[in-house]
Amino acid sequence: MELPPHQIIISEEQIGKRIPQLAGEVEKELGDENPLVVVVLKGAFVFASDLVRNFEFPHQIDFIATSSYGDATSTSGVVKLLKDLDEPIKGRTILLVEDIVDTGLTLHYLQQLLQIRQPKKIEVMTFLSKMARREFHTPLKFVGFEIPDKFVVGYGLDYKEQYRGLPYVIAIEE
Ligand code: 5GP
Repeated sequence: MELPPHQIIISEEQIGKRIPQLAGEVEKELGDENPLVVVVLKGAFVFASDLVRNFEFPHQIDFIATSSYGDATSTSGVVKLLKDLDEPIKGRTILLVEDIVDTGLTLHYLQQLLQIRQPKKIEVMTFLSKMARREFHTPLKFVGFEIPDKFVVGYGLDYKEQYRGLPYVIAIEE
């Protein structure tokens, strides 16, 4: 695949080392609670699939889809629910898996949406975090990598639906 001018932000090797560490952290915190892993589509699907293959404890998986960007590279300020969960979550321990937390708006919206369904608790895992741009401060229990304020793609993250399959993360010019 032809890539635009870019800078590698996180290598395949760094990701490969970090995933088992994250899985271990989750096991320590939630391993006894049969968590429901809620994967936020589409961006988190690659990360989540690597993550759960390192889980050595009982868990289930469900998917939810939101959109806030459209084709743009910064948030529109409005979150839309595109796909809801298949199952009720009342009384369940939820591990909400995000690709990236930027302003925190999407996560804030999802937390509110899920909280009213009375889960036992919701813990957040995000592959990437851009702290510099945070406006909504939802606590993040597990963070893969803190990254600088750049638009990144790869490892599930897209630009206009491209580059999701890259096994590493790059920053591209807007
Ligand atoms: P937030 O609501 O926290 O501002 O943004 C979260 C969502 O925006 C993410 O789930 C992701 O879809 C998108 N997003 C934020 N920053 C980036 C980025 O650098 N690259 C890509 N591809 N998507 C991003």
